[in-house]
Amino acid sequence: MGLFDGKKGLVLGVANDRSIAWAIAKTIMDEGGEIGFTHLPDRPDDEKQKNRRRVTKCTDQYPEQTKFVVPMNVQDDEDIAAVMEKAKQEFGEIDFLLHSIAFADRDDLSRDTVETSREGFKMAMEISAYSLIAVANAAKDIIKENGSIATMTYFGGEKCVPGYNVMGICKAALEAAVRYLAYDFGPRGIKVNALSAGPLKTLAGSAAGVGEMLTMYQDIAPLCRNITHDEVGRSGAFLLSDFSNGITGEVLHIDGGYNAMGSPGRLLDKVRQLQAENQ
Ligand code: NAP
Repeated sequence: MGLFDGKKGLVLGVANDRSIAWAIAKTIMDEGGEIGFTHLPDRPDDEKQKNRRRVTKCTDQYPEQTKFVVPMNVQDDEDIAAVMEKAKQEFGEIDFLLHSIAFADRDDLSRDTVETSREGFKMAMEISAYSLIAVANAAKDIIKENGSIATMTYFGGEKCVPGYNVMGICKAALEAAVRYLAYDFGPRGIKVNALSAGPLKTLAGSAAGVGEMLTMYQDIAPLCRNITHDEVGRSGAFLLSDFSNGITGEVLHIDGGYNAMGSPGRLLDKVRQLQAENQ
């Protein structure tokens, strides 16, 4: 008997097999759940449908449990409505909704935060923060009582993580949205939570400078290592399952304990050692 037997839901934000959304979806499907997926729409002249194919390369591994794969740009309300209509036709109601979507222009990510462009800020906020509100609102009539909504965030929304820049501001807004949505959905028993993951090599992660962060986390986090895709898959599935009933408006960290540190910890030992060697 699986944790998700008889459960149905939507997973938004699979780009490829390194995506956090795919790690979570795989765990859910391995536990018996059925899922409808979305992909960024392909350009009409793209006969190869590259965006769709990146996602179906993953979902084809689970033909029984993948119920549909449809296009959706979260900047388009009609796209969002069409996804919910498809979910209604296929499932009637859904038990869970995973939002695992973020985007900021590389130029804005690489600039000092003070130089963020107005248009870049609006776009990053719309795709990375407002979109949670938009999809939750569109799903509100099809999500079951006691269902679950989860999104993905990062520590750079709580504290300044140089390099994360405009995306840190988006994550702060996203985490605030989680708390307000938890209040709105609470009377129906629906949980709304965020999973704050440590760095992982993914498409979005590379754009946000994950490379350097991996070394830093290994040196500072109490567990002395980085987290794995499988671990994020299981914690995400936990937040979307009945096992997390009673938890809402929460930001759950899966980061080897990095967020609990108030000093660079064991990294200081390395610095001391280097200083001693150079004396
Ligand atoms: P990813 O595989 O690149 O996933 C990001 C997804 O967002 C992609 O599927 C992307 O689609 C989609 N997306 C971007 N703009 C969109 C739009 N306008 N409409 C619909 N979908 C759109 O990277 P990931 O690391 O798994 O990111 C998933 C979430 O985890 C993000 O919120 C990210 O900030 C968060 N997170 C990541 C890390 C990390 O270290 N990787 C750590 C903490 C939190 P396309 O690829 O087709 O554009």
